[in-house]
Amino acid sequence: MTNETLTKLMGEVSNGAIRVVDLTISLDENTPVIGLPEEFEQSPAFKLEQISQFDDKGPAWYWNRFSCGEHTGTHFDAPGHWVTGKDYADGCTDTIPPEKLIGAANVIDVSAESAENPDYLLTSDKLKNWEADHGKIEPGTWVLMRTDWSKRGPEDFLNYAEDGPHTPGPSVECMEFLTTERDILGFGVETVGTDAGQAFAFEPAFPAHTLMHGNNKFGLASLTKLDQLPPKGAVIVAAPLKITHGSGSPLRVIALTP
Ligand code: MN
Repeated sequence: MTNETLTKLMGEVSNGAIRVVDLTISLDENTPVIGLPEEFEQSPAFKLEQISQFDDKGPAWYWNRFSCGEHTGTHFDAPGHWVTGKDYADGCTDTIPPEKLIGAANVIDVSAESAENPDYLLTSDKLKNWEADHGKIEPGTWVLMRTDWSKRGPEDFLNYAEDGPHTPGPSVECMEFLTTERDILGFGVETVGTDAGQAFAFEPAFPAHTLMHGNNKFGLASLTKLDQLPPKGAVIVAAPLKITHGSGSPLRVIALTP
């Protein structure tokens, strides 16, 4: 049984009318990992170790073992990652319904604001202005915050100072707006985590984590190439590894875009 919509979709992917954009950064030992205050356990860097490569250990095959924290590189934050989302029956990587792993994307360009101010915070007013130009942010869609942060070198990417990291992110009221008034699917960023660098000092702290996951919604961090997506009209596939009771995972995020 065939379906016209799917046949047309794949026809347009193969003739280039629909472009496929990889929103993922490469994973290796230099991939930046979020640092926590020193009293807490840290997440290790990505590590790759060879099992065999066409040698005595495996004459015709090459493979590696890898290890990393679940929240490494371009990665998915499941609701179960945060204390506010820990009790959702469908809130871990193995229990999220698969239809929620595909969604339309609203891309909010705040690259100029972020270049000027590394502590830039996205607000609901900014989103309402964006909606005036591009239409309402529909329920069940992704909101992706384009900061061009992925174009920075490793040190400027994490952007640590004595008082902690300085990276852009969402304000508290922005997260309240997106969870309660827009009922989005999740919130994605180009920075190392979905919250601003200084969000430890917000009330509540870490609003993207506290409010998104508290409302059974997702996060995507360390995305790249958001500058290649239109404000509206792209669809992203973001499917984390099916780790049993996982809190998230590195993943490949693929966008289909006109
Ligand atoms: Mn994370």
